[in-house]
Amino acid sequence: MSSLKKNHCCVFSDDERMVLEYLSDKKYHSGVQLGSALNKSRTTIMNYMKKLSDSGLLINKVIGRGYQLQIVPEFYDRRILLKRPNLSFFDTVDSTNQFLLEQSDVSDGTVVLTDFQSHGRGRRGRDFLSSYGTQIMFSYATNFKEIGEINGLSIVIGIAVVKALESVGINNVQIKWPNDLYINGQKVGGILVETSCSKKGVYTVIGVGINVVRDFLFLVDLSKLDREIGAIDISKHGISRSEMVLLLCEYIDKYIANFKRVGLQPYIETYNNYDAFAGSNVRIITNERMIEGVNGGINATGAIILYTQEGKLVEVVAGDVSLRKADIT
Ligand code: ATP
Repeated sequence: MSSLKKNHCCVFSDDERMVLEYLSDKKYHSGVQLGSALNKSRTTIMNYMKKLSDSGLLINKVIGRGYQLQIVPEFYDRRILLKRPNLSFFDTVDSTNQFLLEQSDVSDGTVVLTDFQSHGRGRRGRDFLSSYGTQIMFSYATNFKEIGEINGLSIVIGIAVVKALESVGINNVQIKWPNDLYINGQKVGGILVETSCSKKGVYTVIGVGINVVRDFLFLVDLSKLDREIGAIDISKHGISRSEMVLLLCEYIDKYIANFKRVGLQPYIETYNNYDAFAGSNVRIITNERMIEGVNGGINATGAIILYTQEGKLVEVVAGDVSLRKADIT
């Protein structure tokens, strides 16, 4: 893993970590107190605070009292993460997908995990919001021979994630075609598959982002969003973020290996069972047009099947399209 180019990422220094440890009691600590504990000037402490705030940590500053960490994140446990040798953790990265796309010669199963993305992205240049310590966000690298082989990959990854969550008792997660994770009508996570083609094949990066701590909803600006979002409280299910990361990666390893062998076909029925809008009236919005119809699940390439009101069967491939629930009768 030492060969990864460390672009646009950061790991907190020991001092910055120490500051976080002091602040983890949720009490106020003055710059002077922290400075003398760490043997650093107040200006240096101020700079640490700026960096921590810029990394998505909610730090209150009150004149005369000092700094307070409003919401204490559940920090990753490095000893657990180390169990996966091809996983690298950075406290912040601009986008884990971008980070992996900028690498060359990355072996299958390489994972880049972060606690904050300054430019996390969804499809079509949309933002994926993050706040430190309340999500699981990583990208996973794999290689295919031909671009046609990845049809339906985001569906299979969605199933892998849902199954991993189910294995710890989180049973109500659904998939919104083609790449979103939903619970009770709220988006709790997403998957973003991006590729880079060359003579060697199709280098594929799979981004996974899931909100896994309730506090996430207090930490992001919900007014920026065009939909309701939610979070899964994984701690209620007795699993830490670190353990959940490893479990998700194991499921993804297994599902990708099988997908490479047998393709999407064996997963179609499973997907249909998890489809958030199965049998519902839906609207597909593309740049040029809007199609409404009854959602008939997916076909062998991962395209969605719609039965329109005019009695036509239309198949739409994932790409630059959005799916919404429609209120047609
Ligand atoms: P569509 O529903 O139009 O197909 P999408 O859900 O697939 O879009 P993406 O591009 O994958 O959209 O993700 C970006 C969208 O996800 C944002 O526009 C926003 O609505 C939502 N979003 C952003 N951050 C988060 C988050 N942390 N958790 C859940 N949803 C988020």
